[in-house]
Amino acid sequence: MDPIRIAVVGVGKIARDQHLPAIAGNRAFGLAATVSPHDPGVEGVPHFASLDALLAGGPAVDAVALCTPPQVRYDLASSALARGVHVFLEKPPGATLAEVAALHSQADKVGATLFAAWHSRFAAGVAPARAWLAERRIDKVEITWREDVRVWHPGQAWIWEPGGLGVFDPGINALSIATRILPRPIFLQAGTLEIPANRAAPIAADLQFRDTAGAPVHMDLDWRQTGPQSWDIVIETDAGTLKLSSGGAVLTLPSGTSHDEDHEYPGLYARFATLIRTGQSDVDIDPLRLVADAFLRATRVSVEPFED
Ligand code: NAP
Repeated sequence: MDPIRIAVVGVGKIARDQHLPAIAGNRAFGLAATVSPHDPGVEGVPHFASLDALLAGGPAVDAVALCTPPQVRYDLASSALARGVHVFLEKPPGATLAEVAALHSQADKVGATLFAAWHSRFAAGVAPARAWLAERRIDKVEITWREDVRVWHPGQAWIWEPGGLGVFDPGINALSIATRILPRPIFLQAGTLEIPANRAAPIAADLQFRDTAGAPVHMDLDWRQTGPQSWDIVIETDAGTLKLSSGGAVLTLPSGTSHDEDHEYPGLYARFATLIRTGQSDVDIDPLRLVADAFLRATRVSVEPFED
């Protein structure tokens, strides 16, 4: 079978750290081009300053991986789908729920694959956690996602702008895991968003969800954490406590701890290849919907200005 000719669009941190190595390591794909307004791309691979320039006069591509900030994703995805090109959307899949729904309809109409990728769902502990929890009564969930924004997002202005999600940019990873492993849907009851006086997006959030059986799900997000970082989900059940830590990589059950190698992005690209080969899309908006609900339902508090 011929490799899927793919272009990486938006050559920034995540494209270089994860997408380019995952594509190079998967024989189902061949890197056909890169697109980025300022980044020079990869040696030996055709590079374009815009997706329009690639689609108008570049090498043929079967798929694009959109690794840009979410605010510019819709137009890029829609142009690609209009030409029948399959689309991989980095998380979050868009800046609004409605634009993602519109892309999903467009993909169905043209028969192309649309993949809303949630990389944290491919962390090693997530599938076994989901299997273990399927049989349990959930009593309480505590999600703690605290990291240092200056370490992980230095100088990323877009992340603080409307549509950039602020602390929900990492927080949505926790929600992508929670919505994957918990046996029942969760929804927001109350919360607080702390928004720096000079920014449009929150630096911290405290959110109280519950599941449909009444179990409380508390989420503590904070971007002002220095020292040790926390990406933990602790779930109390009728059979003891489950803990997912290190963003889902480490799973601790009453029977012991397991930690497998990181295979999040290789897992995403294997899934994308399968979706393309089988003519399907995978567009789960649940994590983004919970974030949108936080912006709808939580109380906003202005906190001290944030400077990079
Ligand atoms: P980033 O370092 O700011 O890179 C984004 C790149 O997108 C920029 O370098 C910019 O390229 C390019 N870009 C902007 N507008 C474009 C357009 N219209 N067409 C083509 N390229 C455009 O951001 P990032 O950290 O890689 O994050 C990108 C996405 O991946 C976000 O949605 C983020 O949530 C997600 N993500 C990030 C991480 C992480 O650890 N950083 C992890 C998982 C997922 P130029 O420099 O050439 O202008």
